[in-house]
Formats: sequence, C-alpha cells, structure tokens
Amino acid sequence: MDQPDAWPTPQKILVILAHPDDPEFFCGATLARWARAKHKIIYCLLTCGDKGYNDTTKPEDLSTDELCATRHREQNAAAKVIGAESVLFLDHPDGYVVPDLDLRRELVRVIRKQKPDVLVTCDPQDLFAVYGINHPDHRAAGQAALDAVFPAAGNAAYFPELSTEGYEPHMPKEVWCSHTNQANVTLDITETWPIKLEALLQHRSQIGDIEKFTERMKSRHTESSRDENPRYEEKFRVIKYG
Ligand SMILES: [Zn+2]
Repeated sequence: MDQPDAWPTPQKILVILAHPDDPEFFCGATLARWARAKHKIIYCLLTCGDKGYNDTTKPEDLSTDELCATRHREQNAAAKVIGAESVLFLDHPDGYVVPDLDLRRELVRVIRKQKPDVLVTCDPQDLFAVYGINHPDHRAAGQAALDAVFPAAGNAAYFPELSTEGYEPHMPKEVWCSHTNQANVTLDITETWPIKLEALLQHRSQIGDIEKFTERMKSRHTESSRDENPRYEEKFRVIKYG
C-alpha cells in the first residue's frame, strides 16, 4: 500500500505549533523525512517559549527576553538539522495562548500568505499526555490552527479585511495533527529518528542531563521492538480535502 505521505510532487508544508521544540518533539522525524524527500517545510510558532525555565535555566539567571532570544537561536538551529526552510515566530507570550478570533485571523493570514499544500498542527483534544496534562498552549495552538483552516482560510467571506490586504483565500489539501490519541496514520520513521534526536539536542536550554534525555528518547521505541533493534513511530490524525 502507498504511504499516506507518498506525494508525487514536492509539497509546501506549513507547521503551526505553540513553542520552540514542539515541531521536533511532536513530529521531528516525520518532518526530517519530508525534508529529505524534497518537500519544503516552514515552521510558524505562536510563542517564543519565554517561560520555558527548568533546573538548568533559571529565572534569576535569565530574563524572559533573554530566554526568548535563546529559544529563537536554538529553534533556528534545530530547524536547520530537520531541513526546514525557515521559522516564522509570532512571539505571543508563552503560556497565555487563547484560540480567539484575533489569533484565528492571524493564522488565516499566515495560511493565505504561505499557501501550504499540507498543514501540520497538533490535536486540541489531547488533554492527557504521557507526562501529565498536555500544555494549554499546545491545545490552543491546535484549536486555532484547525479553526483557521476550516472554514475561514478558503472562504473570502471570512476576514474580508485580509482580502483588502491582498491575501486571497487558500485551502490546504491535507491537515496532519500530531500529538494525538485519535491517530489514523502511523508512520515508521526509524530511519530519521536519529535526526529528530540531533535536532532536539539543539534546544539546549530545555535539556538538563543530555545523557539521561538521550536515553529517555531512545527508550520510546515501539512496544514490539527491542533496545538492540528499536523501531520508532510517529502518529497523526490526518484530514484530506478534495
Ligand atoms: Zn510545547
């Protein structure tokens, strides 16, 4: 059977997620595989992750502005490892993303400007993650991106002010939601898993002990595979139009 991502021509793929490091964590191996298949990938991140403090990155050592700048740098480096072409930062405050009409309009503008064939985001209904409660920004980003795609992006009657700005309606052909418990597509991305790991390691401010982090990531292989011969998967809810 054909792979669901076996597109016959190069696709333009727009990835809309909340934070720096979300693209790599949620679906980095898939994005790396697509970049190597000559598809053009653009990231659009809603926040700059300016509250991403942890044991090694503490508020007393780093202001939110400095952390924001660090995270831009790290994200650009990670995107380069993945093979993404560019990163668009919307720089909303970390932790406060709300899927309201202003954000929807902003994302409709991005979609109409970039005209992606494929839009990647995350599942807004994924409340319980393996690590606890899924971050509200993740859910809000997924909700805002899906609401922007349908019914607004392809319909000129929505946000007519954007048409006045010169942005014509555009509808992606496919939407891929990562970070989901409602997957209908599972990709074996074992081959590009090491690239995902290398890209994740660019987010140095977010990683405490590199060895422990690497071990934890390596242990996330499929249940049916073993440490000696691990297989890795990334799952998506895919919606196809037309
Ligand atoms: Zn995140």
